[in-house]
Amino acid sequence: MAHTPELPDRYVCTDCHAVYVGSVTHEDGLYHYSAPDECAACDSTEFVQFDQYVNHVLG
Ligand SMILES: [Zn+2]
Repeated sequence: MAHTPELPDRYVCTDCHAVYVGSVTHEDGLYHYSAPDECAACDSTEFVQFDQYVNHVLG
């Protein structure tokens, strides 16, 4: 069965909490996701993965 790409990682700007889908690259048969270089809304370069953000918020 063909492999299925996982859902893209999402990243949250730690300043304004905007959510971005990570940019995807495909190498060595694996998909890699990376956070945006900077937030389009506030120019922050600090991002956390969405899952970590949710865990952090919900405690
Ligand atoms: Zn931001």
